[in-house]
Amino acid sequence: MESIGVLMACPMNTYLEQELERRFNLFKFWTVSDKTQFLKAQQNNIRAVVGNATAGADAELIDALPKLEIVSSFSVGLDKVDVAKCKEKGVRVTNTPDVLTDDVADLAIGLMLAVLRRLCESDRYVRSGKWKKGDYKLTTKFTGKTVGIIGLGRIGMAVAKRAEAFSCPINYYSRTEKPNLKYKYYPSVVELASNCHILVVACPLTEETRHIINREVIDALGPKGVLINIGRGPHVDERELLSALVEGRLGGAGLDVFENEPHVPEELFGLENVVLMPHVGSGTVETRKTMADLVLGNLEAHFLNKPLLTPVV
Ligand code: NAP
Repeated sequence: MESIGVLMACPMNTYLEQELERRFNLFKFWTVSDKTQFLKAQQNNIRAVVGNATAGADAELIDALPKLEIVSSFSVGLDKVDVAKCKEKGVRVTNTPDVLTDDVADLAIGLMLAVLRRLCESDRYVRSGKWKKGDYKLTTKFTGKTVGIIGLGRIGMAVAKRAEAFSCPINYYSRTEKPNLKYKYYPSVVELASNCHILVVACPLTEETRHIINREVIDALGPKGVLINIGRGPHVDERELLSALVEGRLGGAGLDVFENEPHVPEELFGLENVVLMPHVGSGTVETRKTMADLVLGNLEAHFLNKPLLTPVV
């Protein structure tokens, strides 16, 4: 397979990069200065694209690669891949479902605890020596708070299962009500937000879910409510979130993702009721290795004419 051209869209994982280099003819797109010229020169060589949550394969790239056979994403979310275009062109698409579910759900619970119990602020309090001047302020109890989940899929269910262990009642919203679940379904995000203390975004990013967290939803969640976003940044109207946090119309937020990553609005840096993460939901050594093996396994299966491990298209 050493002669098969694989285009890696951006830097994502050293092990994956090394293995792609060892097994295929790897092109690193981010090292190319004149991308148009490069694509013209390599259009007949590149048969696979490896993308992630930062860069994938848009219509322009797909059109520029007539020999493209497969897009294998080092992510479960496919918002950076034009899946419809791939379908239309007969290009296969794979992602990395299931293997990252536990890590992302763990982080969601971590963010809930961090925001309500002010873990980061407390840590700074001790480090700065302020404890010697008096006790830390009281925080908010997590156990028993109602958790609302937008998108009760693999990750949403894993969040629900964990939150149940903290005696949290679970409510949810998705396009379809899930049968045989003891969780309460709300047919709109606003109704869900009005009926929970902690609102978790765990749905895919699509045109339908862009800014699914808008002013109306934030106001429904209210001054004691907490928003947890472990989905994608553009799910949240960041300007509205900022003004609600600054004006005290929202209680707090735990954010793993942002609208314009890695740029984070600086106004958030001064707020103690927010916890900010650099998009690391699946970012453990163990899970990233498993995800990389899944990308490699999908590519090898495709080029050996075997069934794909995790096909989307
Ligand atoms: P999944 O199993 O496909 O679950 C997604 C759920 O969202 C489904 O239950 C679906 O239910 C619901 N949904 C789809 N469209 C919706 C809409 N318009 N409104 C409301 N709900 C909708 O996916 P997953 O594996 O749980 O992953 C979910 C997302 O998490 C990914 O797409 C990715 O963007 C994000 N993610 C983030 C990180 C991170 O590092 N922060 C890591 C991994 C994944 P219905 O079909 O009934 O609507």
